[in-house]
Amino acid sequence: MAPPLLTALDSGGHVHLIIGSNPLANARCSKSIEVGAKPKVVASADAVVHYVLAKRIEDGEVEWIKKSFEDADISTLGRSEVDHVVDAVFVTGNGKNVSSTHISSLCRRMRVPVNVVDSPNLCTFTLLSTHSDGPLQIGITTSGKGCKLASRIRREIASSLPPNFGTTVERLGTFRRRIWEEDHKTYETEEPATEVEDDDATAQRPAFNRLVSETDHNAAGTRRMRWLSQICEYWPLRRLASITDADIDTILHSYTTSSDLALSPLNATNPDIRSRPKPIIILAGSGPGNPSLLTMATHRAIQTASIILADKLVPAPVLDLIPRRTPVHIARKFPGNADAAQAELLSLGLEALYKGHTVLRLKQGDPYIYGRGAEEYAFFREKGYVPIVLSGITSALSAPLFASIPPTHRSVADQVLICTGTGRKGAAPDPPPYIPTQTVVFLMALHRLSSLVDALTGAGPTTESHETGTNPKPWPRETPCAVVERASCPDQRVIRSTLQHVCTAVEEEGSRPPGLLIVGWCCEVLKDMKGQGKWLVEEGFSGFEAIDFGSDGAAGLVKGMNIDGASKTEELLHHDKASANGMSDLSVR
Ligand code: SAH
Repeated sequence: MAPPLLTALDSGGHVHLIIGSNPLANARCSKSIEVGAKPKVVASADAVVHYVLAKRIEDGEVEWIKKSFEDADISTLGRSEVDHVVDAVFVTGNGKNVSSTHISSLCRRMRVPVNVVDSPNLCTFTLLSTHSDGPLQIGITTSGKGCKLASRIRREIASSLPPNFGTTVERLGTFRRRIWEEDHKTYETEEPATEVEDDDATAQRPAFNRLVSETDHNAAGTRRMRWLSQICEYWPLRRLASITDADIDTILHSYTTSSDLALSPLNATNPDIRSRPKPIIILAGSGPGNPSLLTMATHRAIQTASIILADKLVPAPVLDLIPRRTPVHIARKFPGNADAAQAELLSLGLEALYKGHTVLRLKQGDPYIYGRGAEEYAFFREKGYVPIVLSGITSALSAPLFASIPPTHRSVADQVLICTGTGRKGAAPDPPPYIPTQTVVFLMALHRLSSLVDALTGAGPTTESHETGTNPKPWPRETPCAVVERASCPDQRVIRSTLQHVCTAVEEEGSRPPGLLIVGWCCEVLKDMKGQGKWLVEEGFSGFEAIDFGSDGAAGLVKGMNIDGASKTEELLHHDKASANGMSDLSVR
């Protein structure tokens, strides 16, 4: 069965016809009232009426039409502006002499949405199990597979949010509106600023991470909007929840040009940083995202540093391991601001070192793979502080693994090339020539996937700056490839395809940054795409599911390492490996 279309229906003033007067009828009335609709109960005068429903009727919240249901009720009890046709019908089970099947087909004919209790076949819609917190509404359906389960899932999701998160949604919504209005005022653009008109389903377009060139005159106008989009994407929710109205005012008034990146209260360093006798700077990689993939050395550095300067991409579960007392600054790298954000981080680091602190510069993946790690190393060394560098698991090699792609494999691939899709100043680097036994992993490339694929296959200019010229050794269009996004995170997604279809696949599926592209015949070694269509999407990360991490997930594992010492850790790491190898059971859509 095709999945249902989930929508949020504005039901203000609608008339909901509820047939029956049992406890379920009462529950339906209560929901209708909650969403601003007018419930009308049809039940004969001698019907047993649930006591709460009776109270509602008495209080005038619910109208009771004292008679048995008749077909004409559907077209006469509704609002006058829709010719008295009711807006929805709920059959709750105890309507006298009422045939649910008859009502259902009548409603279908009249295009009135109908819901019949315990009869999925007679329903044209079902209600979701909802969590409601101000503007934030979360709805779950299991498509009739179990309402208790739906309610459990809903509770689980709701409890993972910071308390009163609806208020944060409200605040950020107001913020977004204000930025939009001010940008409109300032730049008199006819086009709304980036993302403003997107609805939730399209908010993460591939253009999301697009670099803004220096010459882009609208850049200043959209900068705050992008900043907002990016903090919504990358900040841990609990950090978003701590934004106050005063913070928002400060940001609104200070972020007008890129040179205005003075410290905002959101990032101000805590004055009571714990003093250390000897300044230490640690440059550490935090792996691809899953906290279980941190090295023990990096984990220890997270626990002991007196200040942490983190990259934007360091994911929330890793940041959650930072002790509350430790001040954290997250890089404000949004398009067009990478250099300023980097300079800001370096000077914060230096300032803390002067004061004798232990500074942890926490980077995503491995610090020396496209992480500006060596630049930072040289910077601090020149100032007299030689960094301790801790390696991290790079996404370039772990994302393929979590997608069941071995970058090397006997007789298929004997070399791996790691490339960037974005060179300095946003230019596209030349594509590598075709080597049949090579696996190429492209980082920072998905936002310009189609020009990259064109360049690889020889279908277009080799670089954006060249008018002509194609790849002298083009990659065949049937070369298998895979886009792996948010590798090792719960929302990991793999799109398997070929160079020929991958762009359409990503356009249709949307983007979920960060992600990378793997190209080469190794993509087929463990997963054969033959007969599977133009692309295949695999959702979710189940790499560590077999290990019981306890209630606080993988973070618990990392915490456990401290308590139980190395031998247990070794054992767990061994399990990690075993589990990661058993990744083939990802769900396929
Ligand atoms: N130093 C990092 C890479 C930094 S560049 C490392 O070693 O992994 C940032 C790029 O890394 C992103 O544009 C994306 O291509 C890739 N990336 C980072 N984390 C990723 C993840 N969890 N899944 C897929 N790609 C990721």
